[in-house]
Amino acid sequence: LVSADADAEGDERLVEAALRPKRLEEFIGQARVREQLSLVLQSALRRNRPPDHVLMSGGPGLGKTTLALIIATELSAPIRITSGPALERAGDLAAILSTLSEGEVLFIDEIHRMARPAEEMLYLAMEDFRVDIVVGKGPGATAIPLEVAPFTLVGATTRAGLLPAPLRDRFGFVAHMDFYDAGELERVLHRSAALLGLELPGDAAREIAGRSRGTPRIANRLLRRVRDFAEVRSDGVVTRDVAAAALNLYEVDAEGLDRLDRAVLSALLGKFGGGPVGLSTLAVAIGEEPETVEVVAEPFLVRQGLLARTPRGRVATAAAWVHLGLTPPPDAFG
Ligand code: ADP
Repeated sequence: LVSADADAEGDERLVEAALRPKRLEEFIGQARVREQLSLVLQSALRRNRPPDHVLMSGGPGLGKTTLALIIATELSAPIRITSGPALERAGDLAAILSTLSEGEVLFIDEIHRMARPAEEMLYLAMEDFRVDIVVGKGPGATAIPLEVAPFTLVGATTRAGLLPAPLRDRFGFVAHMDFYDAGELERVLHRSAALLGLELPGDAAREIAGRSRGTPRIANRLLRRVRDFAEVRSDGVVTRDVAAAALNLYEVDAEGLDRLDRAVLSALLGKFGGGPVGLSTLAVAIGEEPETVEVVAEPFLVRQGLLARTPRGRVATAAAWVHLGLTPPPDAFG
């Protein structure tokens, strides 16, 4: 069970950490990635060498961090965790690389946001297990080579397309994480409910899974909201109706669209007549960063057939008009 402390503190991140699967065989869904990764890890263990560097690409909450931790556990290796934005200067990265122990896993989240000089240092470290520390400035500057213990880099990115080719090419294995199907999300929910000590009937799990945007992190988050709701309104008993009422209260609609998703669609229809409109114009209209709209909202809306990305911009489909209770214009897309 998840410790009562973690839960009582209401610290969502603590609970999230407690709900992470620890071993590859506990990791639900992503069957292909799991099998591929399992081979990479097993052969490395057999050869007694650190495995190839691994890149994981996919939207937020699909399990990239979880898999990175699992990789270290399966290898019985320590793991160092950092993120692209934290590696502003080459020195930040050098400090980490020079203190890695042999076989250690280095996890860099949001690796596409690393600063250029750090990135270039990383190329060399990945390939030759060495870094060049530049001392001094101008013509008198010298590079002092420094050995790095053989390590495994695990990079995670929500935007693989932004990775420069030289970096992407240095990963021996690229795992593409996709949205989870409803059955997989139901399994995630049943597992989490058991860890939280919560009784979750099958139809309630199905109701929550259907509204989880194909994403385990969202499934777990909605499960906790349903639990809160049940504690206050129905003596802690979760039924399908309780789940639906809770999720309506939190503005997650029957198709799983949340406020951001609906804001994107409403602006697209209301302000731009269904498009086409450019990403940044659309983002400004709802007061969000273009990256948030592109990474968080759009992939799901595209998958649901509500939005299309065309060379001329973002376009709402006829289904989007219907979803918002409007009549699609005769020339609506799709
Ligand atoms: P990411 O790093 O891709 O943003 P995380 O690895 O942090 O996503 O996953 C978010 C949450 O979803 C974690 O707390 C974990 O419990 C849960 N989760 C993710 N993938 C799975 C999975 N395959 N099986 C069970 N739970 C998962």
